[in-house]
Amino acid sequence: MALFGGGKPAVKKGDMVYAWTTDSEIAKKAECGGAVTTFLKHALETKMVDAVLAIQRGQDIYDAVPTLITDPKDLKNTAGSLHCGTLLLSKVVAKHLKGAKDKKIAMTVKGCDLMGILELAKRNAINRDNLLLIGVNCGGTVSPVKAMKMIQEIYGVDPMKVHKEEIDKGQFIIEFEGGHKGISIDELEEKGFGRRTNCRRCEYKVPRQADLACGNWGVIGDKAGKATFVEVCSDKGADLLNRAVKADALATEAANPKGIELRQKVEGAMLKLGEKWRRKDFGTLKGDLWGTIGRETGRCIKCYSCIENCPVCFGDTEALKAKSFMVTAGEVPPNGMFHLRRFAHISDTCVNCGQCEELCPMDIPLALFSHAIRVEGDMAFEPKLGKAAYKN
Ligand SMILES: Cc1cc2nc3c(=O)[nH]c(=O)nc-3n(C[C@H](O)[C@H](O)[C@H](O)COP(=O)(O)OP(=O)(O)OC[C@H]3O[C@@H](n4cnc5c(N)ncnc54)[C@H](O)[C@@H]3O)c2cc1C
Repeated sequence: MALFGGGKPAVKKGDMVYAWTTDSEIAKKAECGGAVTTFLKHALETKMVDAVLAIQRGQDIYDAVPTLITDPKDLKNTAGSLHCGTLLLSKVVAKHLKGAKDKKIAMTVKGCDLMGILELAKRNAINRDNLLLIGVNCGGTVSPVKAMKMIQEIYGVDPMKVHKEEIDKGQFIIEFEGGHKGISIDELEEKGFGRRTNCRRCEYKVPRQADLACGNWGVIGDKAGKATFVEVCSDKGADLLNRAVKADALATEAANPKGIELRQKVEGAMLKLGEKWRRKDFGTLKGDLWGTIGRETGRCIKCYSCIENCPVCFGDTEALKAKSFMVTAGEVPPNGMFHLRRFAHISDTCVNCGQCEELCPMDIPLALFSHAIRVEGDMAFEPKLGKAAYKN
C-alpha cells in the first residue's frame, strides 16, 4: 500500500472519505468542506489540466454562470452550490470548448451534466479522456424564475433581498436582510413549487461515473457541515485526491461507517421518491401519451430551442430544422411530424435533463413527454427497467 509523508494510506477507487480544504478563502465560500474547489484548483495549479469549467454566481443567487478559469486564484469565486442553477454543461463543452479535443479540462458535474457528457462522448463530440470530472450529488435544482415566485409568495420575502440559499435536511432555506427561513421541499412541492419536475423524477443522485462523487450526505459527527463526503470512482479520481492530500491542499479522514450507512439510506429514499414522482407525472398522461403530445405541441412556435439545447440531439441541426424533419418551412405550429421525428430521434437516449422544457418559451411539457417515451421504450426491451415508474 502506498503511503503519504504522514503515514496516511493513499486512497483507491471505491474508497470513501471525509475531505476538507486547507485554504481559508475556499473554506469561507464553500458549500461543505471545499473539497470540490480544492480538487479543481490543485488540478489547475499542477497542470493536470489546462482549464477548469465551473459555475460562478452572477448578479444574484438565481444567476448561475458557467465560467472557464485558467488562473487558479480565480477558483475561490466558484465555491458554493447554486441550487437555482438549472443549466447543463455538456453542450457547453461540445459547442464552446471544442469537445475538449485540444485541451484537458476539469469540471464540476451533476448527474445530468455527466449523462449528457457521456452521450456526447459516444457521438465523438466530446473527448472524455481529456476531462477530469468532479461529480456533485444532486437532489435537484429549482428553476430561477419559479424560485423567485416561490420566495415571494410562499416565504413572503422579496426575492431580491435574498443573499443566500441552501438545501439542508430536506428544507429549502433562504437567508435575507433581516433573517432566514426554511420550508420543507415536500411542502413546497405540494404547493406546486420546489424542484423542477424532471429533477423530481431523476434517479441519478450520486454521479458515480465521474472521477469523484462529492456531497454532503453522510457527513456526521464533528465534521458535519465542515467536510465533503467523497466517493472515489476512478483511478484518475484517486490520483487527484492523493496528490491534493500530499500537497497539503486537502485534509482527509476515513468516512464514519454510520455516515456511509446514512448516505445509502438517504440515496435509497431519494430514489423511491423519484419513482413516486414518475408514477404521479406519468399518471397525468392518463394512458394517452400521444394524444396529449398532439394537443400540447399545438402551441409550438418552432423556435428550435428544444433541438439547440438537447444534449443528445446532436448532428446537423440545420438539416433537422429543414427538410429532413418533413415539415414545411415557416409553418406554425409545425405539423405533428416535427415533434414525432424529434422524439423518435432521442427516444432511446433522453437523459431527462429537462432543458427542452426549461427553455421552451411556450411551456410545453417536453421533458415529461421525452422521459415517458424513453421509459416506455425501456419497458419494451427490459420490463423491469420501467415497471417501477408505472406500478401503483
Ligand atoms: C444543484 C445541487 C444540488 C445538490 N444536492 C445535493 C444533495 O441532495 N445531496 C448531497 O449530498 N449533495 C448535494 N449537492 C452537493 C453539495 O451541495 C456540494 O456541492 C458538495 O458537497 C461539494 O461541497 P464542497 O464544499 O466540496 O463544494 P465547493 O468547493 O463549494 O464547490 C461547489 C462546486 O459546485 C459547482 N456548482 C455550483 N452550482 C452548480 C450547479 N447548479 N450545477 C453544477 N455545478 C454547480 C461550483 O462550480 C463548484 O465547483 C448538490 C449540489 C448542487 C449544485
